[in-house]
Amino acid sequence: MTLFPELCEAVLKESIIGRSRERGLVEIYCRNIRDYTTDKHKRVDDTPYGGGTGMIMQTQPIYDCFASLCEDTGKRPYFIYLSPQGKVLTQERVKSLSAIDNIALLCGHYEGVDERIIDELVDEEISIGDYVLTGGELPALVLADCITRMLPGVLASDEAFEQESHYSSLLEYPQYTRPYNWHGIDVPEILLSGHHANIMKWRRERSLLRTMERRPDLLKQADLDKTDKEFLKKNQKDE
Ligand code: SAH
Repeated sequence: MTLFPELCEAVLKESIIGRSRERGLVEIYCRNIRDYTTDKHKRVDDTPYGGGTGMIMQTQPIYDCFASLCEDTGKRPYFIYLSPQGKVLTQERVKSLSAIDNIALLCGHYEGVDERIIDELVDEEISIGDYVLTGGELPALVLADCITRMLPGVLASDEAFEQESHYSSLLEYPQYTRPYNWHGIDVPEILLSGHHANIMKWRRERSLLRTMERRPDLLKQADLDKTDKEFLKKNQKDE
């Protein structure tokens, strides 16, 4: 639910998300809130009661847009409002949202939406970070993108995201591709060894080191075994 469906569609038709929609792995529809306004001048916003700058999106068009969505879906979708006041999105939340069949995303614009929409309809407010954007479209696209890539069949194999940054609370190891030598720097020798177990060990260790250096806060919630802990301890002492 947006005032800028073309903006959203431009992103959603491309690349992995676009192909997943074509293959029927996910269905994403953009609805223009303006199509639902009963105002004869097609207005969807008005000035705030009590004064102040900016415009507030009105209740009626959003309410009717959602009602038509419920009717077409045959169910009441889980209603998320993208908002800087929501809980900040994490990979963990993405994982749980990917299990929900129908989700409606509301993109605010201008100064936001009339609070009564949030009180009456919204199940959850989600923020993509502690900064403010001009509209909820980019946040909604962020959410649609990361939920879609968790759906079965979207990525080549489940392994693709299980190894990935944040999935297991560890950052991913560094990756390399051809050419072998670039600007005088070779790819780490171990990756050419063909020795699978050693490569796995090297990658695990790089993941651990990276996370310790860049995001030590993540290590607390990571799933670490004895070998991991010993490796981290040893490398901490060496510093
Ligand atoms: N006056 C509002 C901000 C409005 S920003 C306030 O102070 O809370 C305009 C719209 O952009 C919002 O309605 C919301 O949908 C979207 N938006 C802005 N920043 C966002 C963020 N960090 N995460 C999610 N949505 C955001």
